[in-house]
Amino acid sequence: MGTLCLPPPPSPPLEALGPHLHRRCSHLLQSCTSMRCLKQTHSLLIRTGLDRLEPLVAKLISFCALSPAGSLDYARLIFAGIESPTTHLCNIMLRGFSRSNSPENAILLYEQMRTTGVSLDRYSFPPLLKAMTQALALGEGREVHGYVMKMGFDSDVFIHNELLQFYAECGSVLDVRQVFEKTPRRNMVTWDFFLGGLFRRGLFQEVVSRFDEMLKMGIEPDELILGTVISACGHAKDLRMGEAVHSYIDKRKLKIDSYLESSLVHMYANCGSLAQAHKLFDGMEVKSLAAWTALVCGYCKTGEVETARSLFNQMPEKDTVSWSAMIAGYVENGQPNDALKLFHEMQLSGAKLDHITLLSVLSACADLGALDQGRWIHFFIQQNGFNQTLSVNNALIDMYAKCGSLEDSRKVFNAMPMRNVISWTAMLTGLAMHGDGKAALELFYEMKKSNTKPNDVTFIGMLYACSHAGLVDEGRQLFVEMTKEYGIMPRQEHYGCMIDLLGRANLLDDACELVKSMPMRPNVVIWGALAAACKIHKNAVIGEYAAKQLLQLDPEHDGAYVMLSNIYASSSRWDDVAEMRKLMKDRGVTKETGCSWIELNNITHEFVMGDRSHPQTDEIYQKLHQVVSKVKLIGYAPNTSNVLLNVEEEEKDDMLLLHSEKLAVSFGLINVGAGSCIRIAKNLRICDDCHSFMKLISLGFNREIILRDRNRFHHFKEGSCSCRGYW
Ligand code: ZN
Ligand code: ZN
Repeated sequence: MGTLCLPPPPSPPLEALGPHLHRRCSHLLQSCTSMRCLKQTHSLLIRTGLDRLEPLVAKLISFCALSPAGSLDYARLIFAGIESPTTHLCNIMLRGFSRSNSPENAILLYEQMRTTGVSLDRYSFPPLLKAMTQALALGEGREVHGYVMKMGFDSDVFIHNELLQFYAECGSVLDVRQVFEKTPRRNMVTWDFFLGGLFRRGLFQEVVSRFDEMLKMGIEPDELILGTVISACGHAKDLRMGEAVHSYIDKRKLKIDSYLESSLVHMYANCGSLAQAHKLFDGMEVKSLAAWTALVCGYCKTGEVETARSLFNQMPEKDTVSWSAMIAGYVENGQPNDALKLFHEMQLSGAKLDHITLLSVLSACADLGALDQGRWIHFFIQQNGFNQTLSVNNALIDMYAKCGSLEDSRKVFNAMPMRNVISWTAMLTGLAMHGDGKAALELFYEMKKSNTKPNDVTFIGMLYACSHAGLVDEGRQLFVEMTKEYGIMPRQEHYGCMIDLLGRANLLDDACELVKSMPMRPNVVIWGALAAACKIHKNAVIGEYAAKQLLQLDPEHDGAYVMLSNIYASSSRWDDVAEMRKLMKDRGVTKETGCSWIELNNITHEFVMGDRSHPQTDEIYQKLHQVVSKVKLIGYAPNTSNVLLNVEEEEKDDMLLLHSEKLAVSFGLINVGAGSCIRIAKNLRICDDCHSFMKLISLGFNREIILRDRNRFHHFKEGSCSCRGYW
């Protein structure tokens, strides 16, 4: 049994209802606060036929589409039932759509209006452009812009302001500038959108100069604009302008709200004016999260990591940005271990992390050579969907290469849905670090075939690959190709690689010629490369010259002193040796402390030269002596040429044994399960003695050792090393 369907009661003629009901409905709609109440009124309108009156329908739709208590879906339902909607009704819907999560509906409605011939007026465009901004629909927006001009609305400042916002969001700075130049009677919103647009596109310098223009035109900026300009000064590190704006605010006695205060703290901190930043910060009544973070960042940048950390600890609450800032601070200041520790704390705290955090953490793993932790973070990245992010994948390639696992770098590289020049360069540089010059060259051709243009960093990687694999001809060819085909002028780094390449191949005369031909003054890298080559090939004349140049540029270059001492000692110039030692002492030069890391069960163990701080110290030294006696049987003889001279030979032997990588490898032999590879990372270049020591361990103990030093990777296996003596 169905319900009986009665025909609707015949509606009385409209005019018979009189103005009374009309007014009552209008009043009901005006005082409506909920959808329930609205629906009741709507049904009353239907019953009385008043739902055909445009002003009442407009009120209905307005409430549904625009009020916070409304329902856009219900508005669409009513709107769909209207046979030929007016421009006014369409505009209400456009506004509703532009505020919703599906702005593309506004674009659809616009297309409908065009095809059905509903005209657009000056109220149609602002919401329409707002929707296009939200949907980042650059093509459609351009079309609308054209239509605006055709309709003659291009003198309307409101429409211009929306256009500015639209182009700024879509990233078209050229259009932003054009619209701005053509805006008649610019108001404060115009300037705000314009400067804000430039700011969001990272054009901080231009924000500052346009602001200058604005002041010269006699326009007084509001607080919003001042905030933007101060932030821009901070990013552009323009302290002079920042201070000028600050004193402008003070002079006009403008109200400094917490947003402006934060911007000022950020500006001073970013410009390195930390005392000033801290003073302002102390004076803040309510210390914003942004101000805390700006101060933490500032101290990290000036290397005062301890101060930064203590501030960080005092923060009443922390967000993703502040955690990331502190982690990045540790990485940038060479404290990767602390960065990883903090990262674990961050996860325990339940804070959300983003790709910026991950980039810092991956870089910390790379610095430490912490493969296990790197793998764990990679797993995390996959679980949380960050493996589609280009920059994260690039960092993964770099991390795996630096942690000694080229296979993993390759896997990430091959699986990438999209690659840019940085991805290719990271993979090439990885191969170069591991001494696989041939593979690097192959990949380079593949890169060119894929139509990716190599940049200057790619060429540094390639030249490096050639020099570490002894590929002289290929290197020379690349050096020419770089300028000739790609128009890249070689920088010091490129010359450095070339000199390294020629020097290692004992083409010292060619290397000297290249130094002479350089259009710029050779820097420390160049003289260092030449000096190192002379050391390998025992060329005292050029070596002495290069080392002296090195000392002139960098009086604290410890390597140069050691090298000169050794050159003098080998020709028994003892007075000169003494002079070197005195110079070093007078200038307070100390050899940079060697430091090695080894990772075990997600914990990184650190050893410095002669370290006795490790809980297993006694065991480690016992093991070391055992190892020494064993490798001596298969041919180890301490090579003391790297030790500063004038100490007794026996003492020198002892000093050699204290090298951090020897302690690390002893620790590894005790704790890393038999048959597993021992992975060590070192901050300095491995010395000749440790190099042959490792080779012999790999033979005598049948252990694979992968050691990363400052320059490259050494895979020690069965008594030989992958670098074949090139390091
Ligand atoms: Zn050593
Ligand atoms: Zn090696």
